[in-house]
Amino acid sequence: MNNDKVTASVLYSALKPSEAQEGKIKDFLKSKYGEDISLEWVEDKTLTDGFRLEVGREVYDWTNAGRLEQFKEMILNAVGKKYSDNVIPLIRENIKDWSPKGVPSEYGIVTSIGDGIATVSGLKSATYGEILIFSEGIRGMVLDLREDEIGCILFDDTDEIAEGSRVKRTGRSAGVPVGNDFLGRVINPLGVPIDGKGDIEADDYRAIESPAPGIIERQPVNRPMETGILCIDSMFPIGRGQRELIIGDRQTGKTAIALDTIVNQKGKDVICIYVAIGQKASLISQMVTNLKKHGAMDYTIIVNASASDAAPIQYIAPYSGCSLAEYFMHQGRDVLIVYDDLSKHAIAYRSLSLLLDRSPGREAYPGDVFYLHSRLLERAAHLSDELGGGSITALPIVETQAGDVAAYIPTNIISITDGQIFLESELFFEGQRPAVNVGLSVSRVGGDAQTKAMKKSCGSLRLDLAQYREMEVFTQFSSDLDEATQKQLTYGHGLMYLLRQKQYKPYSQHQQVILLIAALNRYFMDVPVKEIGDEIGRLLEYFEMYHSDICSRIDSTGLITDDDRKNILNAADKFKKEGK
Ligand code: ATP
Ligand code: MG
Repeated sequence: MNNDKVTASVLYSALKPSEAQEGKIKDFLKSKYGEDISLEWVEDKTLTDGFRLEVGREVYDWTNAGRLEQFKEMILNAVGKKYSDNVIPLIRENIKDWSPKGVPSEYGIVTSIGDGIATVSGLKSATYGEILIFSEGIRGMVLDLREDEIGCILFDDTDEIAEGSRVKRTGRSAGVPVGNDFLGRVINPLGVPIDGKGDIEADDYRAIESPAPGIIERQPVNRPMETGILCIDSMFPIGRGQRELIIGDRQTGKTAIALDTIVNQKGKDVICIYVAIGQKASLISQMVTNLKKHGAMDYTIIVNASASDAAPIQYIAPYSGCSLAEYFMHQGRDVLIVYDDLSKHAIAYRSLSLLLDRSPGREAYPGDVFYLHSRLLERAAHLSDELGGGSITALPIVETQAGDVAAYIPTNIISITDGQIFLESELFFEGQRPAVNVGLSVSRVGGDAQTKAMKKSCGSLRLDLAQYREMEVFTQFSSDLDEATQKQLTYGHGLMYLLRQKQYKPYSQHQQVILLIAALNRYFMDVPVKEIGDEIGRLLEYFEMYHSDICSRIDSTGLITDDDRKNILNAADKFKKEGK
């Protein structure tokens, strides 16, 4: 260093440095020279790719060419030192003669920035979904292509970027790391672990948006995805590869159904992915604790974009989760993915679109909000055997306002899915939990995937419940009912109690079959409704103890023979009479 005291420095660059950049340079000067040195900026149009700083007689070349020169020197030194003079002369010669070639790289300029959105001009050939690199390595994704500029969402802190900052193309579309080590972990939508358990080693990298499998690549839904919830498995069965919507007002047990389904996959070789969008972080940590307690975290991945995350992060969350699911599906695995919930996802997308100046449509959502969810849900599939036979079953969740299923987002998603489980506040508050509205719920494809045992045992349950509901309305105000009507009402009332089920208490297949056969044969008719819950527990325990052969036969074959059916009825009768 020269001994004269330096008091001034000059910074050369083509564009005026942003405040953040200037601050950094000043910090650098201070750390290097230990005192305040004035900084003057001089425009130099020849320096298109960085800065040159001159302090006294010292020059810091931070242009790309300068950095490359330094890199070259470093490598030459390293090779020279390590291998003295006998080895790898060829490499040394190569490096000596190497100079950067004139490879063109397209760059743009930030024209405006704010709220996690940047508008960039000059990137003519950028594509939708492409990742752009801003100064300081900040990443963004192209979401809006206009004639003379593009709109871009930013994934990192935006303080470092200012108007006039440079932006580079990467030619890569946005993606996430994927791999087996993600199981049991909580990550953010960029694939970064947020559970404090250290790094995750990824096996691959997948684009977050990828086309859904075509018709030839698929096969019909023909295997069950059991939820363990009697009401759903008996009347609205879900198959592997199906999309079943869970819809209802707030606090009606929507998440509970999804979590029960995850817990029920224990030992069934299904990978579960739970995508949380716009929920409180505290709820998620509680959920992880519960899943761990029930041994379900080992085969589950949680992708969390919490309420405090920026809209771009919330927006990509379901697509990231789906990419992870696809990774496993293409290995021939069965995957269950829950999107909790897509109403919040649509809201995040709406705020992005408004910030991108897109014209608002119905309920202020942009016109392509339907496409937003259809391209996501179409990626659920049951792949053909040639492709490994893997599947993605999707359980999207939608929150309604005051039970209004005719609002924009609910109607959209109802039309994209293969059925819906409709939950009702009124039932929930009456204590009918899960609060499934049997009349409005439907599953359009899962029936084909039900095991024969289940199909045979649920018989007239749906019809009986429909009759009961109708009769209940008509007889609400009449006091003198004939005996037949009275019986029908008691029977229906009992069925409703049969369908009540505690959280995290999934039934196995044989338990569901036994309960259905018994109940449809009027087993619970003379049990006071308040005691039905306890009676169910006792009956199932009795079967487990004295008729484990029937239980295991149903579970292993998925069939119920006429003999077994009779045996169940006889055993249930015996239990009722003798209490054993
Ligand atoms: P939000 O709209 O806030 O997301 P949600 O519809 O997802 O709510 P949950 O959080 O699943 O509802 O459930 C609401 C409450 O009801 C929770 O405290 C949950 O423990 C309870 N609950 C849900 N299902 C049952 C059930 N089958 N039996 C008893 N309690 C239940
Ligand atoms: Mg919820």
